[in-house]
Formats: sequence, C-alpha cells, structure tokens
Amino acid sequence: MLAINDGTSHVFMSDLYRTTSTVVVTDAHVVVADPCWLPREVGEIRTFTDSVKGDRQVVLLFTHSDYDHIIGWGAFPDAVVVASGSFARSPASERERNLEQIRDFDDQYYLKRDYEIAYPKTDHAMDGDGAELPLGNARLVCYQAPGHNADGMMTVVEPHGILILGDYLSDAEFPFIFHDSRQYEETLLKLDAILERHEIKLFVPGHGTPTSDPSEILSRRDADLRYIRELRRLTAAGDEAGIASLAADAPFPRHQRKYHQGNADKIRQELAEAGR
Ligand SMILES: [Zn+2]
Repeated sequence: MLAINDGTSHVFMSDLYRTTSTVVVTDAHVVVADPCWLPREVGEIRTFTDSVKGDRQVVLLFTHSDYDHIIGWGAFPDAVVVASGSFARSPASERERNLEQIRDFDDQYYLKRDYEIAYPKTDHAMDGDGAELPLGNARLVCYQAPGHNADGMMTVVEPHGILILGDYLSDAEFPFIFHDSRQYEETLLKLDAILERHEIKLFVPGHGTPTSDPSEILSRRDADLRYIRELRRLTAAGDEAGIASLAADAPFPRHQRKYHQGNADKIRQELAEAGR
C-alpha cells in the first residue's frame, strides 16, 4: 500500500508489521529502501519503480540485514546496492541465518517468489558517520546505527531531506534490542547531530508511521531512551513486576511482550558481562 506520495518520496507500507519501503526519485536515480515483504507487495514496489525509472539507475538501500528488510533483494537484479560496511562484511553464518529466516517465513505461509532468495551483494559499503555517496544532483549521507542489530545505518537522501531510519523511532514498537543496549542509546543520541546538519522534511521509520514533524520524532526518541534506561534500572534491581508493567501499553502487546522479555534478557546478560 502506498502510504505517502509527494511526487519525490513514496513510502509503501506492508500489511505485515507496518514495515516501510521508501522509493525516492532523483534526477538520475531511483533510490529504493528495503523493498518488502509479501511477494505481491515486492511486486508492487518493483512495478512502481519501473514506472518511474526511465533511464535512471536503481539504487537499493538496505537499512540493516534483518530478514524482513532484505527479503526483496532478488527482485532488483539491475540495482546497485548501498549498505553499511558492517552489513557488507557480515559473517557467512549470520547471512545464512538471515536467509534461513526468509525461507522459514515463506514456507510457513506457502509463499512463492519469482526471484531467488540470496544475501545482497553490497556495491557501496558506507562506513563512519556523514559518509556521502553522490548520486547525480542528489546524494546519500549515511550514519552508522548499531544497537537494534549490528549493521544498521540511517541515511539522509539529499537534497530532499528524507531520513530513512531503519528499525528505530517507530510508533508501532518499543526498541527491539537484538544487539547492544548502549549502542542503541548512542544511535538514538545521534539524531541531534543529524538534525543539526540536515533539514529533514520526512522521517521514515522501518516500522510504523512516517512523519514530517521533528518534534514527533524527538518525542519518540525520548520515549525510547526512557524505555531502555528504565528497563536497565528495573533489570538491575531484579524488579520483575516493574519489568512486566513497562510494556503494559505496548501498541501490539500480545506479540510484543516476548520482545520485551528478550530485551530484559539481553540487558541482564550485558549487566552480568559488565560485572565480570
Ligand atoms: Zn524490521
């Protein structure tokens, strides 16, 4: 479903987990971020891309390597791929795990795809904060965003001011901490520097509602920081009731409670490691 279309930026929202796929048409390129995830939805994004492409080069941008975000890669064999350096260098075992999750998902729902499932081959690996990839009169400016997973990246598409966030700053979920809670906080705190350097006109989270309002994104950021810090405090105190109540108003509680418990386990493990 096309959730936003302002002529330059087009945000598709999957029926699954409100996952977003962003298509930005620049003078010489079509930037497609995380095309996902049902075969019909990937097909819709592919068809849309072809309809606006003309003689533009298609650029696939991956926000991170979680399987729901790389699932559509095979539908864009003509594209060059941009991702973080850690995405490009991820170990074979990690890649195989991501691909196996895609196969599991497709088997679970009897899904067939008209393209091959494979791990994206990165043409432009972006390292550091503020690294730029020129694209004609446009450019991508990339910021490392580890924490949710190990290889996340936030990217500003300039001069359009579109910030593609990956799995951060969602209104559909609290932070899912698969990698490292401290790094997650540091990534959230980078937002200030990004807002100072860029005039952002559209913020697109990996899941949930895009917004053009910086104060909305800053309030999501503050809520996410509060959640992580409070969860760390409660976990250190062994306050199980407090931990449970922290996720009481999660947007999709029946599904999300297990991720909340996973976050608590992750932080407990981090605290134990720090104490050794
Ligand atoms: Zn995701």
